[in-house]
Amino acid sequence: MANYRQKLSGNIDGDYFVDDKCINCDNCSELAPEVFTEKDGFSVVFQQLVDADVEERTL
Ligand code: SF4
Repeated sequence: MANYRQKLSGNIDGDYFVDDKCINCDNCSELAPEVFTEKDGFSVVFQQLVDADVEERTL
């Protein structure tokens, strides 16, 4: 589970975020490209979840 204290600054504000433990394996953006993007060598959330189907695939 991501740690809020280690949240990457590139995430958009909201409930979901990536922390600095990310090794940028691309799994996030492959599973939910409408939510995650790459920034500064990490995956970050650029769109908070609004679709239940996307949320199910991501969690
Ligand atoms: S891309 Fe996603 S699954 Fe891969 S290391 Fe980063 S946060 Fe974890």
